[in-house]
Amino acid sequence: QQSDRDRLYALMNYAKDYYKESLTTSEEGQSIGLSYFRERGFHDRTLEKFELGYSLNEWDHLSKKAMGIGYTDDLLEKAGLIVKKEGGRFYDRFRGRVIFPVHNLSGKVIAFGARILTKEKDQPKYINSPETEIYHKSNVLYGMFQAKNAIRREDFCYIVEGYTDVISMHQADVDNVVASSGTAFTEEQIKLIRRFTENVTVLFDGDAAGIKAALRGIDLVLKGGLNVRVVLLPDGDDPDSYSKKMGSTEFKQYLKSHSKDFISFKIDLLASESVHDPIKKAEAIREIVTSISLIPDPIKRSVYIQETGQLLKMQESVLLTELNKILIGER
Ligand code: ATP
Ligand code: MN
Ligand code: MN
Ligand code: MN
Repeated sequence: QQSDRDRLYALMNYAKDYYKESLTTSEEGQSIGLSYFRERGFHDRTLEKFELGYSLNEWDHLSKKAMGIGYTDDLLEKAGLIVKKEGGRFYDRFRGRVIFPVHNLSGKVIAFGARILTKEKDQPKYINSPETEIYHKSNVLYGMFQAKNAIRREDFCYIVEGYTDVISMHQADVDNVVASSGTAFTEEQIKLIRRFTENVTVLFDGDAAGIKAALRGIDLVLKGGLNVRVVLLPDGDDPDSYSKKMGSTEFKQYLKSHSKDFISFKIDLLASESVHDPIKKAEAIREIVTSISLIPDPIKRSVYIQETGQLLKMQESVLLTELNKILIGER
């Protein structure tokens, strides 16, 4: 007897195969989807590794095929593959987009991300599967299945923003990478990383939004007890674009030489904003100490306080007083 979950896994696998086949064998898939991936420099090996696909620009191509072999519209809806309208009518959720399957740890497909190819203003760039019985967005990191062995081996993990960042980094020979898919981290995602390593390097887009997201990410990851480093990319680049611009060797070199401990990252950032403004500087210091207060391990906390004192040429005792205030909830 097949359970609901088994049926969902089977249907998602069917849909994944269908999208893959559409990419490589249909006229539309080849001329639109495949040529898009080629333009982005993705090799055939890469398409295969990430099981990338294409959804034809028709209202019900997938659902018709799936129902033709016995999948019900109820199951298609539960899987998030169709959207139902009033009156029982429905249509395929993903149409005319390239498809990025999301895998669970054992490699089963549990969701899809889908990118638009044209520049229609009223359409979102990416749409994603909704929450389903087998897909809980907050527990998943894109690329973990393809990265887990490398994360164990390297004993650290890069966290990037997007699907294409993960994929391009694999092509640049950096396999220990997962994506938060543009949303804030959750505790569950940090627990997931923890199964493989205690060390993460946040590698976000080099724009204002990326820096903001990195800062938010850092605090959550610190709270989760992981060690955090940060690499900032040049403004306007993300790991995908930058790895292609630089090529594998230089990109890897950049990652190495620009990887900073989170304290130095924050200090540099704040220093560039607030050197000549004592009020801003005080705020900045408080912000750094607040981040340190999130670290569960007291020994690590005190090491970071020492380091902050040295970098900012401040007395450790001042910082410690502030830290203790935060820890006992006076701030
Ligand atoms: P690309 O290189 O294909 O343009 P990207 O990954 O660089 O994509 P960003 O705009 O940097 O795109 O967004 C980072 C991530 O955030 C995306 O990979 C995707 O997971 C998610 N995302 C972006 N836009 C949307 C959207 N409109 N709806 C839902 N998720 C989105
Ligand atoms: Mn961005
Ligand atoms: Mn990006
Ligand atoms: Mn990008």
